[in-house]
Amino acid sequence: MSTATTSSPDHTKLVSSPLYIGGEWQAGEADPIAVVDPSNERTLVEVPSASAAQVDAALQAARDAREEWRRTGAMARGRLVREMAAVLRDNVPELGELVLQETGKIQMLSTMEVEVTADFMVINAEWDSRIEGEILPSDTPREVINLLRVPYGVVAAICAWNWPLAVLSRKLAPALVTGNTVVIKPSEVTPLSTIRAVQLWVENLEIPAGVVNLVTGGGEVGGELVRSPKTDLVSFTGHRDTGKRIVADASANLTQVALELGGKAPAIVLADADIGLAVDSLIAARYTSTSGQQCGCAERVLVERPVLDEFVERYAKAAAALRVGDPRTEVDLGPLVNAAQFEKVSAAVAKATEEGGTVVTGGGRPEGGEFEKGFYFEPTVLTGVDRSMSIARDETFGPVMPVLPVDGLEEAFEIGNESRYGLTGYLYTSSYATAMRAEDMECGELFINRSVGEAMHAHHGGHKESGYGGGEDGKHGLYKFTQVKAVYHNW
Ligand code: NAD
Repeated sequence: MSTATTSSPDHTKLVSSPLYIGGEWQAGEADPIAVVDPSNERTLVEVPSASAAQVDAALQAARDAREEWRRTGAMARGRLVREMAAVLRDNVPELGELVLQETGKIQMLSTMEVEVTADFMVINAEWDSRIEGEILPSDTPREVINLLRVPYGVVAAICAWNWPLAVLSRKLAPALVTGNTVVIKPSEVTPLSTIRAVQLWVENLEIPAGVVNLVTGGGEVGGELVRSPKTDLVSFTGHRDTGKRIVADASANLTQVALELGGKAPAIVLADADIGLAVDSLIAARYTSTSGQQCGCAERVLVERPVLDEFVERYAKAAAALRVGDPRTEVDLGPLVNAAQFEKVSAAVAKATEEGGTVVTGGGRPEGGEFEKGFYFEPTVLTGVDRSMSIARDETFGPVMPVLPVDGLEEAFEIGNESRYGLTGYLYTSSYATAMRAEDMECGELFINRSVGEAMHAHHGGHKESGYGGGEDGKHGLYKFTQVKAVYHNW
């Protein structure tokens, strides 16, 4: 077992003035929220929250900056975003350590998160010279019509905890490139890496005051951002139920919202599939992707009966072989992010067994003194599950895979599509014709004969209750941060 060496950030210094408003760092005026290291349950630091007045000040600063930022050329805006990416790359060990400490994500993924965040920023910046409008002829003589893509104005970027920097970059980078100003609100569970990233940007770059602002706090602060008439677009990643609350709150001012929400992705394994490929892909798509705390993960596997026994045997064996432990060591899964997440996953497994499910492997906290503290949960496989059980319907967001038998593709599609969620889907088959039918699966991203992990230049957005008004990445994601304006030029 090897322990990686990393710098150890000074948390107290980091959060002494964690709010960045109109080009100035400020202390938070509202109650602090503890940030806990999930690997040992120790409080890393308490982060003060923004008061309502401070949220308003951040939004006002963003409003005051938006006109000049909009007039700044898109390529200059893209240049700044590229420079922000470079600053992240120069500070991978420090930022990666903060991600690890606050999320419990294993070392390899924590480092990767910082690198991926920089990549997201660069890919978005590359659109700086490609934001296109259209010119239309008019029916009126001596007139031409221009269709322009213009920014919304002020974007509130409200983030989830599972990939704190990557989630942020998918909002911040396209918002800035398209000419919006931004108020960032990281999750109260994982604010440290975001605070440090903004500090590094401010220390190293010339960011015009008010273009990037940062407020800390929980749902209260998020609610202030959503309800304020000073917010033009809410870009949110998080739980579906929070998304519904946001839509209701934003409706008072008809503020635009773009929501990236949870999922209950079905993975269909047909009798003609390469079972080894399906097993390996779904180990990654359920367990080793942030201990199952990744939105696009497979949440249930629907296996055709002729290969059910073989799949369960091989899958359970592979799951049981995964190493769970301190994310600083060579393991496959770190802990879950916090006590609430641990309780939620534990309760989901308990309910599944009450409803008739059988734990084939895993089921709870691993045994051993090293697991007494920390929110560790074993990779768990459940059989005896049917479509009516809550484990087959509700998002688990943890390392638990329910296996459901199906009699063929039609039944698999029927069960897969009955969910109100529609984020991702998976299909394993060796038939080209069947693979083409996968388009019948109701979701925003479909992985055929492969594991989780979306391309940064493609599109990431849920259908049904997994997304609303949004979709991130690539050209389509970038354009979500713009609105179309028709201008009639008559001479
Ligand atoms: P969450 O909804 O609890 O919190 C997300 C953010 O919303 C946090 O910053 C939180 O402080 C804030 N918030 C809470 N209440 C609010 C309110 N009333 N108004 C405004 N903001 C409020 O979600 P979470 O637990 O941080 O994240 C886990 C969820 O996120 C899972 O459901 C997961 O599937 C989903 N997720 C989706 C994607 C995606 O791209 N589709 C990516 C990551 C996570």
